[in-house]
Amino acid sequence: MFDNLTQRLGKVLTNLRGQGRLTDDNIKETMREVRMALLEADVALPVVREFVEQVKQKATGEEVMKSLTPGQTLIKIVNDELVQVMGEANEALDLSAQPPAVILMAGLQGSGKTTSVAKLSRWLQQNGKKKISVVSCDVYRPAAIDQLQTLAKDVNADFISSSGDEKPVAIATRALKEANKHFADVLIVDTAGRLHIDGAMMDEIKQLHQTLNPVETLFVVDSMTGQDAANTAKAFNDALPLTGIILTKADGDARGGAALSIRQITGKPIKFIGVGEKVDALEAFHPDRIASRILGMGDVLSLVEEVSRKVDQEKAAKLAKKLQKGKGFDLEDFKEQMLQMANMGGMSGLLDKLPGMGEIPDHVKNQVNDKQIGQIIAIINSMTPHERSFPAVIKGSRKRRIATGSGTQVQDVNKLLKQFMQMQKMMKKMKGGGMKKMMRGMAGRFPGGGMPGGGLPF
Ligand code: GDP
Ligand code: MG
Repeated sequence: MFDNLTQRLGKVLTNLRGQGRLTDDNIKETMREVRMALLEADVALPVVREFVEQVKQKATGEEVMKSLTPGQTLIKIVNDELVQVMGEANEALDLSAQPPAVILMAGLQGSGKTTSVAKLSRWLQQNGKKKISVVSCDVYRPAAIDQLQTLAKDVNADFISSSGDEKPVAIATRALKEANKHFADVLIVDTAGRLHIDGAMMDEIKQLHQTLNPVETLFVVDSMTGQDAANTAKAFNDALPLTGIILTKADGDARGGAALSIRQITGKPIKFIGVGEKVDALEAFHPDRIASRILGMGDVLSLVEEVSRKVDQEKAAKLAKKLQKGKGFDLEDFKEQMLQMANMGGMSGLLDKLPGMGEIPDHVKNQVNDKQIGQIIAIINSMTPHERSFPAVIKGSRKRRIATGSGTQVQDVNKLLKQFMQMQKMMKKMKGGGMKKMMRGMAGRFPGGGMPGGGLPF
């Protein structure tokens, strides 16, 4: 995500590292490059101008602190400005209303509205323990209603049926009643894609808005459209009072222009970003975390949060206890870690969030592919319990048996044993402090304990 911008800004800021002081000249030179980087990222021009002006002003007045290099000082200023531009803090959904609280989705065709209805259902179930009903008012494409029905089933949301023969406003009225009857906390209403210049279609969604009286009206927009995303959001907002934005397909957007432009151009907060096609690929939008991701510092916070959400807490605690008792980390534990990693969306998803990963070329990242995880699990499944506890006994004939049993080669088994040994070494180190201390430090910031036992699977 936003890789190009990260690379460009990274280069600009490292150029400053060698310099002893921030001078008018090196600030000017650096800001010229930051400007170029932002324009290449397709950030809207007024936003770029304001950004550069603000950073220049702050940098000029800034004393470089003794412990910081000029580069670091400027990174801090640029970081703070990025956060500022994107809206300071996460703005959560405001669902305080007589249930069902209605969320109305709006946007162009193909922007990701229907997918986002499902993602949001999942998110609200997991993060707010809400009971969700969903309904489609997209009567123009017969497949659209079916698409929502399938997705609703995937996320266990209550699907209120509708048909292409109904009027959208009639569907909305009926859905309100049904959601009420089903004791839904939230009713999410999907709509057909429309252009802001299509008067009839804009009238339709205004009527829907009037009928539903939603607490949230979310504009769903494809982040790949760059600064156009901000302009269409603005045009929609002129017709329909938006309460927030869902920026989709951020996973495929190397530039980041939409994320950086929308808030300033529309005055509306980005509330979520879509980061993949799957129903759990939705993240609350935290400007500070995105800023540090853009600057290549990695999004350690998101990572920790995600890990603590998805890691099976109980198993992780068991492992931590075992390690504390001084018992070894064995192949059974290794398998458990691999399974949890697979649950978290695999290695590549995690890697993107680690500090410094922006500089690692994709072909290197892709070496750690998720197929390997499956293979590792298969190989360990072919071992006896004794072998899993005492990997040292795995020699020639056992290796051949295990390879045959798992449909792999002896060299795959060898590779796994080597990886396991490295992991075991790392686990020993973590037991001694280091990593664990670091994780405890971060965990302190999270309710519910954060990182369970430092059991990170890498
Ligand atoms: P709608 O026409 O606005 O309802 O859009 P859909 O929800 O049908 O999505 C259009 C396409 O975009 C589908 O193929 C989705 O899988 C894809 N899509 C939606 N959100 C995301 C996202 O965050 N990332 C990626 N990679 N694809 C997405
Ligand atoms: Mg749709």
